[in-house]
Amino acid sequence: MIQTKRPHVLIAGGGIGGLTAALALLKRGFDVDVYEQASELREVGAGVQLSANGVRVLHELGVLPEFRALACEAEGKEIRLWNTGQAWQLFEVGLESVERYGFGHYLTYRPDLLAVLADGIRREKPNAIHLNARCVGFEQNTANVTLHFETDGKRQSVQGDCLLGADGVHSRIRHGLFGDDRPAYTGMLSWRGVVPMNKLPAHMRRMVGTNWVGPGGHVVHYPVHRGEYMNFNGIMEVAGWQVESWSAQGTHEECHATFAGWHDDIHSMIKLFSAPYKWALMEREPLPQWSVGRVSLLGDACHSMLPMLAQGAVMSLEDGLVLARALEAAGEDVVQGLRRYQEARIERTTKVVLGSAENGKRFQSRTLADAAAAEEYVTREWTPEKVRARYQWLYEYDVTAVPV
Ligand SMILES: Cc1cc2nc3c(=O)[nH]c(=O)nc-3n(C[C@H](O)[C@H](O)[C@H](O)COP(=O)(O)OP(=O)(O)OC[C@H]3O[C@@H](n4cnc5c(N)ncnc54)[C@H](O)[C@@H]3O)c2cc1C
Repeated sequence: MIQTKRPHVLIAGGGIGGLTAALALLKRGFDVDVYEQASELREVGAGVQLSANGVRVLHELGVLPEFRALACEAEGKEIRLWNTGQAWQLFEVGLESVERYGFGHYLTYRPDLLAVLADGIRREKPNAIHLNARCVGFEQNTANVTLHFETDGKRQSVQGDCLLGADGVHSRIRHGLFGDDRPAYTGMLSWRGVVPMNKLPAHMRRMVGTNWVGPGGHVVHYPVHRGEYMNFNGIMEVAGWQVESWSAQGTHEECHATFAGWHDDIHSMIKLFSAPYKWALMEREPLPQWSVGRVSLLGDACHSMLPMLAQGAVMSLEDGLVLARALEAAGEDVVQGLRRYQEARIERTTKVVLGSAENGKRFQSRTLADAAAAEEYVTREWTPEKVRARYQWLYEYDVTAVPV
């Protein structure tokens, strides 16, 4: 048998996508180094829902038991009306998910997910993650790629066989490949906060994912971190403010005012935020190309999307595993491997970007202003058949079987 040398892969960005790719590659025998700008692997407290298609990736990487120990499995999902609080039970998410798609539907705290992935990486290669390393550019030729990064203001460079830009929505690597992007403000602002579960009124302490729908806005909240916190994400149409950042903060007063007229349960949560974070939801046209020679992109760097299908992080998980499979299949020919990865992923992620924008309209229809019309609207839009048609094609995707 011919022994091939496994390429050395450089990854810019140690978020969910970058760490997933790193672990999947290390497990296949590649040498990997991750360069992350933050000085510690800790995202600003926020939750993320992982549907079965993403959970399958964690299983494949061998970290599902550690992940499950920290996450919450959704017992149910419900829709509630913004002002009256009227509730419609959707279905038993956990049970339905395992029976139909092989894995549960989990609600997790981002720092927990990052920690589980980083622990997995360090078991494979203890010094693979380089913190406090801000990637600033790259060069490539037919033989290799050079990544430039800065640590404490000092510029350094490292050489590898290929480079992945997993550096999020404002990707430097994407900029290096394709130049400036032109995001358009959707007119929607997302408020995020995490609340200690034991401080909430007793009737709200439940292992259920809730989606409040209203005219011009919607609020999703669910338990995370073994049920110790409630994660809140409230989206509202707001003119003007356009900062896309995990760390931008607003005030409690501003957040309460945004949801004026909404049910008391919403305000009970806002009151308890340690800090209300805000993120302007921007839309980008899906990119028609991700890979150029030895450099490619992954996750939000190439297909950032609105959060209305809760699939952005899940797509980054899927990308990471498919990328590792494609590079493995291509042997030493990394250029071909990156091309195969792009071909395997671009159609699906483009469909999810477009589907996410479409789903947002359903959550915040003007019809919901009137309680009687809302009753008819919710009953019509959230039948089990319609819900399944919206999500089945997402959840049944098998990242281990898709051809590369
Ligand atoms: C309000 C909201 C709610 C969401 N809810 C969900 C959900 O429920 N389910 C879901 O699947 N998705 C959800 N998403 C989407 C999800 O958060 C993203 O799709 C996901 O974080 C993308 O992961 P990533 O690794 O591509 O990028 P990121 O998580 O942004 O990670 C990028 C990493 O790169 C680092 N970085 C950036 N620039 C540089 C640089 N120059 N050099 C070095 N490092 C750099 C950053 O510090 C970061 O660690 C939501 C998004 C929002 C805004």
